[in-house]
Amino acid sequence: MCDSCSSFLDRLFARGVLHATGVDGLYARGECFEKVISGLDRVISRHGAAHRAEIIRFPPGMSRALFEQSGYMNSFPQLAGSIHGFVGDERDHLALLDKIHNGETWTDRQVATDVVLTPAACYPLYPIVSKRGPVRADGLYFDVQSYCFRHEPSKDPARMQMFRMREYVCVGTPDQVMAFREQWLEKGRDFARELALPHEVNVANDPFFGRGGRVMASSQRELGLKFELLVPIESGDEPTACVSFNYHQDHFASMWGIELASGEAAHTACVGFGMERLALALFKHDGLDLDAWPSPVRAALAL
Ligand code: ATP
Ligand code: ZN
Repeated sequence: MCDSCSSFLDRLFARGVLHATGVDGLYARGECFEKVISGLDRVISRHGAAHRAEIIRFPPGMSRALFEQSGYMNSFPQLAGSIHGFVGDERDHLALLDKIHNGETWTDRQVATDVVLTPAACYPLYPIVSKRGPVRADGLYFDVQSYCFRHEPSKDPARMQMFRMREYVCVGTPDQVMAFREQWLEKGRDFARELALPHEVNVANDPFFGRGGRVMASSQRELGLKFELLVPIESGDEPTACVSFNYHQDHFASMWGIELASGEAAHTACVGFGMERLALALFKHDGLDLDAWPSPVRAALAL
């Protein structure tokens, strides 16, 4: 197949940048893909260094109890994923094997474990912060990362079901948090320029579920609570959100009881880097051969 007539995803598979697993949006990563991810991590760390943020790395699952408390199911039930496990006796086990053998549904007897898949890297952070007492006067800064799950199978390589999200999160007064987001809107543009990626920054909204969700989405846009750094990845499609800049006001802090010394609820904001999307944007613009990438880009990523 010629390069221009196969899809970007097919070309990524053909070069071993990604490997198919049989499920749309679930891919194994090849060596050169991971080199780019490591490079991106270094560039992001450089841009975020001034925060002296506390580093926390999460496993891809979080506590189901805390997830229920987070309200994620109110807003995004269509994207959530939970982990279920087998708890039966030997007879149940035989029945289960029979069902698998006969190609029948075997998962109806699985029960929810205490773990759900993490939907965004900052979700497991707030319960940790809430246990620490009042937020100190100069604010709190975190550098978090997690594999995240979203049930949105797609042939678009930039829409994965499991992907890494690196985030900087600020917890503090409204002024501190707004200043943090303004700085990141600027740094986000610098970051894209350093990597020579064509980009624009636009106001955005989250994919809230249902009719009520449309109201939430338009109010989020009106209040300018979410911005995205967009880069064209799939030709013909809208540009893809590669970095998100979110101001949550006191939403998460009120929910988790995170307070300032004054007793008022803190405010929070996060900047979320979609690691796979950024890597794919680079492969799209600079080609599938890392050795042929422009030297300033290779230098920025220390490839
Ligand atoms: P919040 O904390 O308010 O829920 P967030 O910033 O943690 O928001 P998003 O804005 O939804 O979460 O996602 C952050 C980044 O993750 C996006 O900018 C994007 O780059 C990446 N991302 C989101 N969905 C996908 C996906 N399906 N596949 C790959 N990357 C994704
Ligand atoms: Zn976040």
